[in-house]
Amino acid sequence: MKLNLMGTEINNYTFEEGVNKGIELMNSNKVSQVITINPEMFKEMEHNQEFKQIIEEAEMVIPDGIGIKIALKLKGQDCTRIAGIDFARRLLEECAKNSDSVAIIGSKEEVITKAVENLKNEISGLNIVYFHNGYFNDNNEIYKDLAEKNAKLILVALGSPKQEFFIYNAKKILQNCLMVGIGGSLDVWSGQVKRAPKIWQKLGLEWLYRTLSQPERLKRIFPTLPLFLIKVITYKKDK
Ligand code: UDP
Repeated sequence: MKLNLMGTEINNYTFEEGVNKGIELMNSNKVSQVITINPEMFKEMEHNQEFKQIIEEAEMVIPDGIGIKIALKLKGQDCTRIAGIDFARRLLEECAKNSDSVAIIGSKEEVITKAVENLKNEISGLNIVYFHNGYFNDNNEIYKDLAEKNAKLILVALGSPKQEFFIYNAKKILQNCLMVGIGGSLDVWSGQVKRAPKIWQKLGLEWLYRTLSQPERLKRIFPTLPLFLIKVITYKKDK
């Protein structure tokens, strides 16, 4: 089932359903894009028509972050929050089980190197055939490498909206793969950033934990979140 938030369709899956849908797309002969949507992306959509288009065309849009859950609730819709980092991790495990190849792009060199090392140690059989840091000038060079390596799962951590554009353009070149924008996940997998303890996650307070441990994020959350919720409440369909 699909939910609708200010004209944007969001898939409503349980975590397991979402993972299964991801696996299905990965095993199809298509090239697909997964967007883990948050309030900041809605802000970007307001003035970036191309970005809006990318989200509309994505094969899967899942609600990442409590902001989207609250917004949907305000509109009388219930959804399960699927954290992009958990979703991506499950897909990595699935690839390892089936010996499917994986490529990862993004973050600083030392961060991605450490994240790849940790992931390989933690997920037995994980086959990472390609990785590259996220600070490059020519997308085409990376697309060329990706086309050669032919990985089934491609995780892209360039922050938003950069990663969504990178993936969208890659869709025109690559085949048979699933690409997911994973934001700051490599920072967590490398051990550089600590994730909130499970209980904070369960209570929907991961954003608070992240803000307390990285206070510079505060200016990203405020006033974005309250303004976003006001927009959601006052949204009129044919505006
Ligand atoms: N990043 C990158 N290239 C860039 C800009 C950002 O690889 O040109 C990386 C950055 O190092 C970080 C991630 O993208 O690892 C962005 O994380 P952020 O916390 O902004 O993601 P989000 O809050 O969207 O999850």
